[in-house]
Amino acid sequence: MEVFLSRLREGESRGDCLKRLLDTLQEDLSMFGEGSFVGIKMTIGDEGSRGYISPDLVRIVVDRLRRQGARPFVFDTNVIYKGRRQNAVDHLSLAYRKGFTPDNIGCPYIIADGVFGTDSVSIPVDFKNLKEIKVPSLVRILDDLIVLSHITGHLMSGFAGSIKNVAMGMASRAGKQIQHSSIKPQINADNCTLCECCMEMCPVSAISSTGESAFIKQDICIGCGECISACKFDAVNINWQEDAEVFAERMAEYACGILSRIKRRLFFNFAFDVTEECDCISGDDPRIVEDLGILASKDPLSLDVASYDMLKGDGDVFSRSGKIHSHTHLFQYAEGIGLGRRDYRIIEV
Ligand code: SF4
Ligand code: SF4
Repeated sequence: MEVFLSRLREGESRGDCLKRLLDTLQEDLSMFGEGSFVGIKMTIGDEGSRGYISPDLVRIVVDRLRRQGARPFVFDTNVIYKGRRQNAVDHLSLAYRKGFTPDNIGCPYIIADGVFGTDSVSIPVDFKNLKEIKVPSLVRILDDLIVLSHITGHLMSGFAGSIKNVAMGMASRAGKQIQHSSIKPQINADNCTLCECCMEMCPVSAISSTGESAFIKQDICIGCGECISACKFDAVNINWQEDAEVFAERMAEYACGILSRIKRRLFFNFAFDVTEECDCISGDDPRIVEDLGILASKDPLSLDVASYDMLKGDGDVFSRSGKIHSHTHLFQYAEGIGLGRRDYRIIEV
């Protein structure tokens, strides 16, 4: 599938880089016609994160759509880990603080799964791991979708782009938990210093103390992975091979189940400020690759594979040393279930 690349030129603003790409994609954008409700899926990241797609870039996309008579709105969903995006009240307050006000972005910013993330409906699917997916009711009836994804590394998926943005970001909180539920971390008592950082981060209070080390109650754990990133002493372990691969498969199944119902869709990957961790975690983390530009495609798999290939460098910056990551398995599995194609043709604009 064709993947369009607008490379950030020396001295060029990110906005001009995006406008050049949108000019090239005018024919594809014209499918979002007069009066259509176009959901623009993106995320603002959590409190300390600065790598998210900025409001002025979102505004450029919104203005294009409005000029052709569409009715765009930006949306995201609540998350399952601790932070400012667990409910719509705090989530919207954070969005406004980060500049995602209707005045700035030119359209409403909506939290699709409601104030407490309880708007969740089931859609039947028939995949190896999942027979239903849980999404906000909006997602079930949405016909027109633009996905704006900021590329980052990710603790579990290795590479995070359009597929993860759809799979996790368009699932309800219940759907997110199901995708994570294969992950059951355990504490290595030899490394644990009982600093309690993991206990503070755990959203379901699944971690307690034995007196000598932390201990995870497996029946309470929802597999969110927060304790893995919280621990500075390498004391939280998961089975990186098996758990991460099942996680990747479930993400692919969610993305495939969601997108198979949406009639018109277009995906953009923003390769600016790429950090090792995703925007839910990273603050001022060092950038792991040079800014590249913006890529776009109608195929989220071609887009993610192309973005990964162009950014990974010789040592694969999306694989943290000593841990197995699941992006290659995700790409392979996603193609097998019909999410898209792994081959691509880059067209520079
Ligand atoms: S124990 Fe770890 S993975 Fe399980 S819910 Fe708590 S923070 Fe998430
Ligand atoms: S964060 Fe790591 S070292 Fe600290 S209590 Fe948890 S497992 Fe132990």
